Amino acid sequence: MPAVTYEHIKTCKQSGARLGIVHTPHGSFETPMFMPVGTLATVKTMSPEDLKDMGAKIILSNTYHLWLRPGHDIVKGAGGLHKFMNWDRPILTDSGGFQVFSLSDMRKITEEGVEFKNHLNGERMFLSPEKAMEIQNDLGPDIMMAFDECPPYPAEYDYMKASVERTSRWAERCLKAHARSNDQGLFGIVQGGEYEELRKQSAKDLVSLDFPGYAIGGLSVGEPKDIMNEVLEFTTPLLPANKPRYLMGVGSPDSLVDGAIRGIDMFDCVLPTRIARNGTLMTSAGRLVIRNAKFARDYRPLDEKCDCHVCENYTRAYIRHLIKCNETLGFRLTTYHNLYFLLKLMENVRQAIREDRLLDYREEFFEEYGFNKPNAKNF
Ligand SMILES: [Zn+2]
Repeated sequence: MPAVTYEHIKTCKQSGARLGIVHTPHGSFETPMFMPVGTLATVKTMSPEDLKDMGAKIILSNTYHLWLRPGHDIVKGAGGLHKFMNWDRPILTDSGGFQVFSLSDMRKITEEGVEFKNHLNGERMFLSPEKAMEIQNDLGPDIMMAFDECPPYPAEYDYMKASVERTSRWAERCLKAHARSNDQGLFGIVQGGEYEELRKQSAKDLVSLDFPGYAIGGLSVGEPKDIMNEVLEFTTPLLPANKPRYLMGVGSPDSLVDGAIRGIDMFDCVLPTRIARNGTLMTSAGRLVIRNAKFARDYRPLDEKCDCHVCENYTRAYIRHLIKCNETLGFRLTTYHNLYFLLKLMENVRQAIREDRLLDYREEFFEEYGFNKPNAKNF
């Protein structure tokens, strides 16, 4: 029995979205699900108690960052990431690949792996499939990710083809190096950019390796939204129906709903927490920038339809004041609300799937949020 399994509950007759349960060694969660990101083994400004209180069931942490600070040996010494950060629910870690490709300087990619200078002190480091597995085995998350190359958008077909082939060879090495398949599920990552033929090749290679779950990578990297939806439409049907599907790095409310409609089960993104610290809120009536002067004497909650403890107890005027003064409590309140908003959105999506009305729900939600307006902001 693999460490991570997927139980299918039902498919929405109207949209084709699926409702399921992912089982892991640290408990189960319903899907579709959004995973808050705790880059450095903390979801910035939120305690694990806050996260439980808002209904978070699984969080994500970053291998690259924890490898650099404090070091995977220190986390292992604490008994793994769950004990280190006091979170006893499921954790997913990425492979470190995305940060190596996006944050570091002087990358040199070879068949063996990637040599780079880290973004903290410029020290020369090397990440390979084997190293990414060693670090994640030490960190001890329930779900870990294969080490892949994340090509930029747009990338030439020939470059992308060579990259997809290397990522498949790396995936095989990851499986061989993974030392804890009894209590950690390793997911493969389908790449291939916008090219249908390459997505097909990537999915075929990885499915033949029989991972317990699959991610779709290389999206939300600057491509237009219709391309992302198109890629999902031809990629998700290539993945096994009895395993979880995870769309990496996507967290705008419209993309979560549209991803679920295209058969995605799991999402993560720093977007809700990052914009919260800047004073930008997701609300049922659309995007709200709390720094705006018009909220100075606005004594209503952030979102009049939200039942989170922030909206039940604090006003826009007060939160605007805190954010304008860089008060930590301001960051905490906005972060809490934004995460709650996305977790609640996914709960509503799951309910709409149960009732076979996800396309209707999408229409209602998009209309109220303002996504249907011309020039609507992406979140
Ligand atoms: Zn709220």
